[in-house]
Amino acid sequence: MTADSASERRFERALASLRGLSVGDALGSQFFVPANYPLLKQRALPPGPWQWTDDTEMACSVLAVLAAHHRVDQDALARSFAEHHDFDRGYGPAVNRMLRLVREGGDWRELSSALFNGQGSWGNGSAMRIAPLGAWYADDPEQATHQAEISSYPTHQHREAVVGAMAVAAAASLAAVPDGPPSPEELLDGVIALVPRSAVGAGLRRARDMLDYQDAGTVAAVLGNGRRTSAHDTVPFALWSAARSLGDYEEAFWVTAQAGGDVDTTCAIVGGIVASGGGGAPPPAWLTQTEEPPAWLGLPSR
Ligand SMILES: [Mg+2]
Repeated sequence: MTADSASERRFERALASLRGLSVGDALGSQFFVPANYPLLKQRALPPGPWQWTDDTEMACSVLAVLAAHHRVDQDALARSFAEHHDFDRGYGPAVNRMLRLVREGGDWRELSSALFNGQGSWGNGSAMRIAPLGAWYADDPEQATHQAEISSYPTHQHREAVVGAMAVAAAASLAAVPDGPPSPEELLDGVIALVPRSAVGAGLRRARDMLDYQDAGTVAAVLGNGRRTSAHDTVPFALWSAARSLGDYEEAFWVTAQAGGDVDTTCAIVGGIVASGGGGAPPPAWLTQTEEPPAWLGLPSR
């Protein structure tokens, strides 16, 4: 295999994950609309088209930087986040302000480290965008974890946010192995072995212990469902749900969405991981209802 064909395959895998992420994000965000609540119980689809949010917009920057640099370049990533930042895509207020200041010439290193009284953000924003990077490094989960760590800093410097991104990338990398998806236990054991001690890591060990639970609502009540929008309140449940439904996008989506909380983000994370394996692509009818990725990413239209 030549270097070019290897990077083409990385791009294809990452794009498959991005498609899964954007369907999860766009369809998940439909369930913030009160009129759509009854549909959730019936597993019925709201009318389209479904618009994606900040999760997809940022994931497109991750993929664009990987395609251009074949690794995470933090300056290029911060620049892409700032240049493509669309205020109306549901960003949190701190990131909205920060990306505007970066666009106006501010230094992301200072701005990102100064957030939340110098602790940095522990939000789920660096985890929500990173599954395609895991798919890119499907042959190397350690490198996926390392590059995800680097990718968090331009916006999220608190340790929990960094580890949340590492965990999601590790899961997307492990889910994409060519010889079929791992078992739920193998996936979570693999991720736990790759992430450092943290609240996210503790949540993942709890998630591992709860893989045989059938009621996602109970599991989400223990692990969190993103309602607090922190990495540790979001990533353990998302990985619990993804691990149990690798290869079955629809099941993964509905179980995740029905648990409530930060639904666009939990479904973006789960969708990006499940679709990373290639065996868990979103249904074509769902994909056609989902807004196309932004034109600046330069993809051929579907
Ligand atoms: Mg969002």
